[in-house]
Amino acid sequence: MQVLRLHNRGNLRLHTEPDPIPRDREVTLRITAVGLCGSDLHWYSHAGIGDAQLSTPLVLGHEFAAVIDNGSKAGKQVAVDPAIPCDHCRYCRNGHPNLCENLVFAGHDTTDGALCEKMTWPQKCLYPLPETLGAIEGAMLEPLGVAIHAVELSHLRKGMRVGIFGCGPIGLLIVQLARLRGARQIIASDVLEHRLEAAQSMGAGKTVAATSDDASAAIWAATNNNGVDIAFEAAGENEAVQAAIHAVRPGGQAMLIGIPATDETIFKASTARRKGLTIKLIRRMQHTYPQAMHLVHKGFVDVKSLVTHRFGLGDFKKAFRAALNREGIKVIIEPNQQAPT
Ligand SMILES: [Zn+2]
Ligand SMILES: [Zn+2]
Repeated sequence: MQVLRLHNRGNLRLHTEPDPIPRDREVTLRITAVGLCGSDLHWYSHAGIGDAQLSTPLVLGHEFAAVIDNGSKAGKQVAVDPAIPCDHCRYCRNGHPNLCENLVFAGHDTTDGALCEKMTWPQKCLYPLPETLGAIEGAMLEPLGVAIHAVELSHLRKGMRVGIFGCGPIGLLIVQLARLRGARQIIASDVLEHRLEAAQSMGAGKTVAATSDDASAAIWAATNNNGVDIAFEAAGENEAVQAAIHAVRPGGQAMLIGIPATDETIFKASTARRKGLTIKLIRRMQHTYPQAMHLVHKGFVDVKSLVTHRFGLGDFKKAFRAALNREGIKVIIEPNQQAPT
């Protein structure tokens, strides 16, 4: 089978390797769709992310759907949770599997991810997809889960004003979730025009180009000088963090989701202190797969139109280039599709 491994900074290579053999309580999966995520791009560009460094050639990819290849459920389409919590540490026992002390995560550290034709994964991490959903939707449930987790932690309620800073897939999913929850006002900001257009089409009432000098003033004015109740930062850039903190009303909340390239989050202390802000950091997600699936299945959240690029595994260079250049919105690799010739 074909496997894409990251050997070093910017150095991805396609290999032919033997099919993996499932261990106890695992099944073999035929990978159908893998979304490229900002964190994959960090691994690709820096051979690491945060304080984790590449130590062995790693297969990236943690947003994925597959078809079960063996056993009694062979042929079934599933969305795959990339996180394997240990189920016995104190965080797992207290309902915070995303904070598990022994967490294993696909495409991270030394655990191979989904950018390959086949992989083995624990049965407990598989969520059968209803007939109405395909591989693309299945792969998008992971970023949707992150967005749901962020919105839940924020306690977003009807009538609130919300700001979204960074309109990549996660930001756009939060736009949709904020609309669903009855936000009074949704203001979205990004440096890229096409992403602002997408935010508007998904429910943002006001969009502001982050590149403009008076972006902060424009956001503040749009709220009638009230500020937003909750600002979600989903860009991984300190400028976006600063803009988010600037936009929040006194006593409001800033939710930081993006992953900074330098492993440091920097913002002006006085702005945040004077307003007495609550700042929350988002770590992946909790038990959000069933809810994510429900929202997509019932048509409450549109994940499909976020997917703007699809490539076969052999076209990985084009796929990573599109994602790095932030063309479109979400880039998907379909490992078992032949690349178009
Ligand atoms: Zn991700
Ligand atoms: Zn645990």
